[in-house]
Amino acid sequence: MTEQQLLCITQQLSTIKSKSAFYRKKFENIDLGDVKTKEDFECLPFTTKEDLREAYPLGLQAVPDEEVIRIHSSSGTTGTPVIIPYTKKDVDDWRDMFRRCYETAGLTSLDRIQITPGYGLWTAGIGFQNGAESLGAMVIPMGPGNTDKQLKMMMDLKSTVICATSSYALLLAEEIEKRGIKNKIYLKKGVIGSERWGEKMRKRIASELGVKLYDIYGLTEIYGPGIAMSCDYECGMHYWDDYLYFEIIDPKTGKTVPKGQSGELVVTTFRKQGAPLIRYRTHDLTRIIEGNCPCGLKYPRIDIIIGRTDDMIKVKGVNIFPAQIEEVIKDVENASSEYQVMIDHLNGKDILTLFFEVEPNSDKKRVEEAMKIHFKAKIGIVIVPKAVEIGELPRSEKKSTRIYDNRY
Ligand code: ZN
Repeated sequence: MTEQQLLCITQQLSTIKSKSAFYRKKFENIDLGDVKTKEDFECLPFTTKEDLREAYPLGLQAVPDEEVIRIHSSSGTTGTPVIIPYTKKDVDDWRDMFRRCYETAGLTSLDRIQITPGYGLWTAGIGFQNGAESLGAMVIPMGPGNTDKQLKMMMDLKSTVICATSSYALLLAEEIEKRGIKNKIYLKKGVIGSERWGEKMRKRIASELGVKLYDIYGLTEIYGPGIAMSCDYECGMHYWDDYLYFEIIDPKTGKTVPKGQSGELVVTTFRKQGAPLIRYRTHDLTRIIEGNCPCGLKYPRIDIIIGRTDDMIKVKGVNIFPAQIEEVIKDVENASSEYQVMIDHLNGKDILTLFFEVEPNSDKKRVEEAMKIHFKAKIGIVIVPKAVEIGELPRSEKKSTRIYDNRY
């Protein structure tokens, strides 16, 4: 934490109880004037997604009604959604951060940016659009789906940049390959967000689309996508430490981890007005990368997201993250990037079945055997490997679910 950041935090804390009923209640028994150091700050309670849900619909609002110009909502896959109110300044700040993301990827006003994330209550499409317009680029606001039209616009308007989830980028790449239209595609760069994805999938998308790929990070609770972005050097994502403070904690104990270690990302906003957040637990797993980036940007970096704290599965007593499974798959010759995991409990034993796609004309039995050996060596458990043809596992336009736990 820099002195400047500590100042931002103490200033924010000095007024937050008067502005936010939510934090007035949360910090009821805490004298925020006592927070004078990083260590003091790290003693403050976390803000959780459950807290935000309980504040539904507008309990988070920390400004008078006339200052709220928009709301966004995070997906309510598990019950009540979370509503985040934005002031004009929040929307402008988000746009400025997003423009910075595009600039980090070297985009300019000459680019033609095709946006496939959805528009609506969630923050995806509109964030990509505001940043691109601020940059002065030409926006092609497609939203998700309708692959035929996506490809037609991509060819006719000569899109140079595609913004998509990794699974939708893969679907488009495969479609371009299948239709033999690669020579009519002008894409140079891809901005890929909101999903964790493996190295193998990255290589396939990059080679089939013929583009350089950039990771973008964000979540609706904290503006939306656009709070961190990878640069040309593909060594993590720069995050905007003039707007946000990032901490990495051990998800089990809640304690800050030693520098450089992986854990759960916790974010505090410095400038957010509509719904400021103090120590918000993202459930995203990453680490802070130390040292300077060869690109020269002064903004610090986090690693690409390796998973979600709730993605962690325990099989035969071993904690496993999807990113580790992807690592294993990457190392097995003739195995492709797509996979699916089924976990069952039979006769008192956990059974992990790994379905994975293999390159055409490969010897499935041999690849399965190699997968089993690699998995045991790297992760430490014996699995049931099942090789399938490319295209047999489902592709999705949304966040992919690859792990099915049938034990409970
Ligand atoms: Zn860099």
